[in-house]
Formats: sequence, C-alpha cells, structure tokens
Amino acid sequence: MPQMFQGEDALICSECIEAGHKMVQEMIAKDAKLQQMNALSLSSLPKPEDIKTFLDQFVIGQDDAKRYLSVAVYNHYKRLLQAENKDEAYRDVEIEKSNIIMVGSTGTGKTLMARTIAKMLSVPFTIVDATVLTEAGYVGEDVESLLVRLLQEANYDVDKAEKGIVFIDEIDKIARKGDNPSITRDVSGEGVQQGLLKLLEGSVVNVPPQGGRKHPEQEFIHVNTQNILFICGGAFDGIESKIAQRLNTQVVGFDSQQKQKVDKKNLLQYIAPQDLKSFGLIPEIIGRLPILTYLQPLDKTALRRILVEPKNAITKQYQKLLAMDGVALTFTDEALDYIVEKAVEYKVGARGLRSLVETIMMDYMFRVPSEQCTELRITKDIAAAQIEKADSRKLQNAI
Ligand code: ADP
Repeated sequence: MPQMFQGEDALICSECIEAGHKMVQEMIAKDAKLQQMNALSLSSLPKPEDIKTFLDQFVIGQDDAKRYLSVAVYNHYKRLLQAENKDEAYRDVEIEKSNIIMVGSTGTGKTLMARTIAKMLSVPFTIVDATVLTEAGYVGEDVESLLVRLLQEANYDVDKAEKGIVFIDEIDKIARKGDNPSITRDVSGEGVQQGLLKLLEGSVVNVPPQGGRKHPEQEFIHVNTQNILFICGGAFDGIESKIAQRLNTQVVGFDSQQKQKVDKKNLLQYIAPQDLKSFGLIPEIIGRLPILTYLQPLDKTALRRILVEPKNAITKQYQKLLAMDGVALTFTDEALDYIVEKAVEYKVGARGLRSLVETIMMDYMFRVPSEQCTELRITKDIAAAQIEKADSRKLQNAI
C-alpha cells in the first residue's frame, strides 16, 4: 500500500517518489557517461586489441567478427577525433566511415557482441530492430525512428547522438522478397532499404522525438547521420545456397583445384557482397556497408565453453544465486557434456543452453534454500532425470 506524503499544495505517493528517484539516478549515470564522451582523446582510446580482449571475456569464439568490429569501432573514434590531427600531409584527407554488416545464424552471438561492445564505449550506442520498419505511410515505423533510441541514449543532445553507434538487428528481414514486387506491395522490403540508405550515406534526417509514425504537425529533431556508425546484423537464412551457387559457377572451368578446398560445412566464411545482393539487399545498401564479416555456427566445443567460460556464463549465474543461500554449486564434466548434447539434439543452440540449465535447476532452486544444505553437485544422472521429467510433463500437457 503506497504511503502519501504532503508538500505545500500537492500530494505524492511513495511509489512515485521511488520511480522519480530511479529516473534521477539513471539521468545522473547517463550524464556521467556523457561527460566521459566529452573527454574523448586519442591517447585514452581503447585500442582494437583492448576491445577484442574485452569482447573475449563475454563472447566465445567468433574471432573474425571480433577483429572486424574492434577495428571498426576504433576507427570510428579516430574519425570523431580527426580534427585533432594537425599533420599537414593529411589535411585534406577525410576519413570516411565504414559501416559493418555481420552475417550469422541466429543465436551465434551477434547481439551479444553488440551489447558487450556497448558496455565499454563512451559514445551513445543503441540496438534497434529492422523488423518493425515499413515504408513511409504504412503500418509500422518509419526508418527515421531508428534514431530515436540513439537520441534518448544521448539525453537528446543532438551533437552527441550524431557521433553514436547504432546496431540494426535483423537487417535480412528487409531484403526484397523475390523478383516480382508487383504481386503484393513490398512495404517492408525495397522501400525500407531506400529509406535506410539515406541514413547510412549520411544526411540530415527529421526524427520524430517520440518515435513511431511521423505526423505533419509534429516538431522534428534534425539529426545528421554523417558520423553515426551503423553496425548491421542478420541471420540471412538460406544464404548458404547462394554462396554455394556462386562458388560452383566460379569454379567451373577455372581452377578445379579450388573446388576441393571449399569447406562445405561452413560456407558462410566465403560470403561476399554479391551474395547479399542475391539474397535481396539492394546494391546501394551493400555499398554503404563496406565491411562484411560472418559468425561461425557454434559447434559442441563452443557450446561447452559458453556454458562455463564467459564472465556471466549461465552456470556462474546459478552458482552466484545459490552462494547467496550459502550453497556451493558444482556441475560435473559429464553433466555439462550432457547439456551440450541435449542442446544439439534439440537444435536450440547457445540460446537453449540457458533453458536447459534452468530446467535442470528448477527443483533445486525451489527446495535448496529451505534445506540445511551447503553443497549441491549436479551430475549427469541428475541432469538427465530433470530433463526427462520436464520432457514427459510437456508430453503429458500436449496429449
Ligand atoms: P544472435 O546472433 O541471434 O543475435 P545472440 O547474441 O542474441 O544471438 O545470442 C543469444 C544468446 O546465446 C546470448 O545471449 C548468449 O547467452 C548466447 N551466445 C550466443 N553466442 C555466443 C557466443 N559466441 N559466446 C557466448 N555466448 C553466446
């Protein structure tokens, strides 16, 4: 029951005070971050190797993508600081931005990588989803709304937002669907790509301050996207067949030796801009995303590492939870291998590791805090019994 407090001529309840307090705290934290941005200098920049080392603590594998991303982010900072370079020889050289596109199946770490990098950046950073975008005038959001979140991150300081980084997730969802757009109007395809192109190229766009649709009578904030770095990510389901097609046609008659060298299990590593075009991205967009990198599918070894190695690995999270009840939690190697086997069997990948561990731990999380226990060891038998129990429950529900 919230309590009421009386001021001079108004009342306020305890819940509003708490909510207000939280908002003020958040603003202070954001301000501190913005102050840090003001102090940006070449000597204090995290170097690409530092950025990668930081990523290594949270993201397993994906070395290529990490390297590309680290360099791109470092160069982004350097672009922002290029006015500081007083070297006469380079006076007329303008460093252009290199937006990035990352291709990799869902659940391989694209968003995780973007989120992790955001932790160490001192420029505004935001993650947005391309699936909500539609061509202007249709149900959905206008392309410009991508910048609203960035503005919010920068506390509506346009100068700062204009130097930020935007991660656009699920970019593949705005690819042109097929070659005949006249059958149904392609409101979330090519039209959106044209709109996005404007942002990627660098232009002054009108951003509705509250996001959503633009209204003619609304006041807009003008944002110049020239210095905003865009990182795009997408699963591009089925792009492997386009890559295979291209590789096949290339190899015929030229260098048949090369054919043997192609690693068919991991075709993504050969991805090239023309494959994105075959998938349905317009060439202009591809041209504005000059850095193309890929994420490897996660094999058993990677999944096993993901269970225990990242700084906030799911097993570590449960250990922390139970340590708060004075219980030391351990998983045997066999139990961990079993969880990985199940993730592969159920085809749930890294994302599924979490729900598997949660299923195994559920009963214990319920019981252990009220029992006089100081140690909990999860063996393969325990893990298997819990998963089977959950499976049979699901089966029963389905019948
Ligand atoms: P997507 O590639 O679809 O953006 P996410 O980054 O959202 O995938 O990954 C989903 C979850 O799976 C992450 O939150 C993380 O727990 C786990 N995960 C995926 N890839 C990795 C990785 N390479 N290293 C560590 N954890 C990973």
